[in-house]
Amino acid sequence: MTDTETLSKKYRIVDHAYDVVVVGAGGSGLRATLGMGAAGLKTACVTKVFPTRSHTVAAQGGIGASLGNMAEDNWRWHMYDTVKGSDWLGDQDAIEFMCREATSAVRELEHFGVPFSRTEDGKIYQRPFGGHMSNYGKEPVPRACAAADRTGHAILHTLYQQCLKHQCEFFVEYYALDLIMDEKGHCRGVMAWCLDDGTIHRFNAKMVVLATGGYGRAFLSCTSAHSCTGDGGGLAMRAGIPTQDMEFVQFHPTGIYPAGCLLTEGCRGEGGYLTNSEGERFMERYAPTAKDLASRDVVSRAMTIEINEGRGCGPKKDHILLHLEHLGPELLHERLPGILETSRIFAGVDVTKEPAPVLPTVHYNMGGVPTNIHGEVIRPTKDDPNAVVPGLMAVGEAACVSVHGANRLGTNSLLDLIVFGRAAARRAAEVVDPNAEIEALPKDAGEKTLANFDRLRNANGKYTVAELRERLQRIMQAHAAVFRNTKSLQEGCDKIRELWKEVPQIGVKDRSLIWNSDLMEALEFENLLANATATIESANARHESRGAHAHDDFPDRDDKEWMKHTVSYLDADGTVHLQYRPVHLYTLTKDVDVFPPKKRVY
Ligand SMILES: Cc1cc2nc3c(=O)[nH]c(=O)nc-3n(C[C@H](O)[C@H](O)[C@H](O)COP(=O)(O)OP(=O)(O)OC[C@H]3O[C@@H](n4cnc5c(N)ncnc54)[C@H](O)[C@@H]3O)c2cc1C
Repeated sequence: MTDTETLSKKYRIVDHAYDVVVVGAGGSGLRATLGMGAAGLKTACVTKVFPTRSHTVAAQGGIGASLGNMAEDNWRWHMYDTVKGSDWLGDQDAIEFMCREATSAVRELEHFGVPFSRTEDGKIYQRPFGGHMSNYGKEPVPRACAAADRTGHAILHTLYQQCLKHQCEFFVEYYALDLIMDEKGHCRGVMAWCLDDGTIHRFNAKMVVLATGGYGRAFLSCTSAHSCTGDGGGLAMRAGIPTQDMEFVQFHPTGIYPAGCLLTEGCRGEGGYLTNSEGERFMERYAPTAKDLASRDVVSRAMTIEINEGRGCGPKKDHILLHLEHLGPELLHERLPGILETSRIFAGVDVTKEPAPVLPTVHYNMGGVPTNIHGEVIRPTKDDPNAVVPGLMAVGEAACVSVHGANRLGTNSLLDLIVFGRAAARRAAEVVDPNAEIEALPKDAGEKTLANFDRLRNANGKYTVAELRERLQRIMQAHAAVFRNTKSLQEGCDKIRELWKEVPQIGVKDRSLIWNSDLMEALEFENLLANATATIESANARHESRGAHAHDDFPDRDDKEWMKHTVSYLDADGTVHLQYRPVHLYTLTKDVDVFPPKKRVY
């Protein structure tokens, strides 16, 4: 009897067959699931947390669309802002697609039942947000469609209801372990572990969609939920599929100090502003036009410079103040009720009376599994930088389309989820034939996964998962920070390589199969480490400053050498191989011209 035969006797394995399996039930996963179900595909959605507990529920400020409800607007202006925000690393065809589709996608959400806030004449309320300007960069324009400061909550609940209406099947509290690939490199399904009864599930699927969200938890201080552990990137990289542009990690200017929970950019959209210890509105110096509503990388860097130069607030001079008190309690209660609550609970501050202490905090991953505008995953070949992996899609924060390039504008993530979730559903309806018989899985499907699972479950090493994870988080926080330099990045890479050597000494105390959070966190740690490694190695290699990647030794953007996407492959021992693929400097239609690169000022 071989080892694997013993293993499959040890675990109860349940087989399933579906047209599509979506992994993840955040905004992107639910929008894809709903569309696929509505198109008549037999669709399952596998999720490790209950759908409405996905991180999308925490999204506050709004979803971007040039509806023009409160001031004149145009999708071309939105497109220009997004290209500029991306520091010209975003693919312009994808950005055109997203900004054009935005208005219909948001109206569709309204018709699904999202309870948006309203203007006096009953239209969807819109507020200004960082980097969103009128007339190709003139002045801030209200473009963020908002349901008070709980926009993600409103969207996620509505989408879940719509999925139930279309009879999509949910596998709730199932943890996806690995993709099932065949010898041709096509994706054929996914392995999952049912957290509440310990069974192992082998999903045979004509199409798998990764919608697993970001990996903010690779850092010590972040606004992300504990479930944001980059599992999709981990699954992909273990299956020989690359990730893209992982060096670009967004710091949100206003994480509450010191807890790190988010105070939405909508605070500044409603008229809030930042001051240093001298009471100065310093953003006027860094971004004379957009001021506090410059894009996030610009504001986070300005705050970091103020603190580094001794103008931080508080006894330790280590944070900045966000003022809302001048807006009055009535407006704050109506438009930013969640912010009042967060500030009171996490900083003991009543923002109707006094400013809130804030600090740039890790918030969003621009990088992810590369896809085209239909959500199909790309694995570049020698002849084709856009070659598709059959049977695999990715959407949402787990993916890199790339519409955010080197820096995402606020409100463009919720938009990305909805637009590309919908696009993936449309494409799946074209390429997946619900009447075609589903091929049997390769004979050894899932064996390697089971072996790794069993090894971890019985791991007896000297380090707890929490110890290793904290080491990883401290390395990333210190070495892949707002400002980076050659020495610090190289040290970071060395420390991560050291960490890989220690990982075999991981220990899992709980051996059970039922609600074994120790084991699940060990599996999540493998994914965090994979994403973090790709991030710091990609950052170390990029010798320029662009968007969120601010490199002290290469302070300028270098379009000649570096206007290209980083594509990173990861070996089982943690070695990263980097390649590059061209940025799409073309548009999808003739309705708009390419925006040629220029210096980015706000
Ligand atoms: C506090 C906060 C506020 C934000 N505010 C805004 C905003 O106002 N506007 C905006 O545009 N963007 C905002 N963002 C960003 C945006 O909300 C996120 O990028 C987006 O919600 C991510 O959605 P997603 O569908 O990709 O994944 P998520 O919502 O993170 O969901 C991931 C899903 O994958 C599942 N999953 C993960 N791993 C596994 C696994 N191994 N097995 C099974 N299931 C798995 C989880 O269960 C979950 O259902 C905000 C982000 C944060 C953190």
